[in-house]
Amino acid sequence: MTATIAQPELDEQPKPRIPADGHHRDVNGGWLRPAVFGAMDGLVSNFALMTGVVGGAVSSSTVVLTGLAGLAAGACSMAAGEYTSVASQRELVEAEIEAERLELSRNPHGELAELTQLYVSRGVEPELAREVARQLSTDPDQTLEIHAREELGVDPHDLPSPLVAAGSSFLCFALGALLPLLPYLLGATSLVPALVLSLLGLFLCGAVVARVTARSWWFSGVRQLLLGAVAAGVTYLLGALIGGHVG
Ligand SMILES: [Zn+2]
Repeated sequence: MTATIAQPELDEQPKPRIPADGHHRDVNGGWLRPAVFGAMDGLVSNFALMTGVVGGAVSSSTVVLTGLAGLAAGACSMAAGEYTSVASQRELVEAEIEAERLELSRNPHGELAELTQLYVSRGVEPELAREVARQLSTDPDQTLEIHAREELGVDPHDLPSPLVAAGSSFLCFALGALLPLLPYLLGATSLVPALVLSLLGLFLCGAVVARVTARSWWFSGVRQLLLGAVAAGVTYLLGALIGGHVG
């Protein structure tokens, strides 16, 4: 059968923000989202830390030392936190997959009924659902994969690695934290170059994040810039207030 398909009137449609290849944007953000947020974390925290000690009117060498310590401490803390978080999540999922494997070998009929019921709940006719479940359950490895996907929402062959997560968190945070430090390492003696570079970096991070949200890039960029500026302003004031009373 042939049918003429009416051409959609493209001009009347609002332009969808979906790539030309027809695929959706990665709603989980893939690697880009955590990378940018990690860098932003490093940038904001080290920028604020450094403006805090500058507010306390310390020497440039103390600012550099503070920035380096802030970078190392923050990156290690982020890596350790990420490692623990991903490792414990992975252990939990692995234990659940193991429980499912055991259940599949102990009670294959019950598990087949469970899978059948799942397809029925999605609108497949009971007869057909039973047949689909039966045919999908012939290979034990594939059966486990299907149950893991349907019941736990994970692919047992593609669980996240704690080491990779820790390493990338470390790198991203360190990169962000390096930005306000860079002018000082290159010999700057005032906060101004670090300030300009950091605010620029914040705007850029915000604009990149807009790629994975639906916000406009300039809105997201300006919002990030303002948030970072407020954080740095607060620590600068604290540094200025307390600086005279310590040391
Ligand atoms: Zn199951």
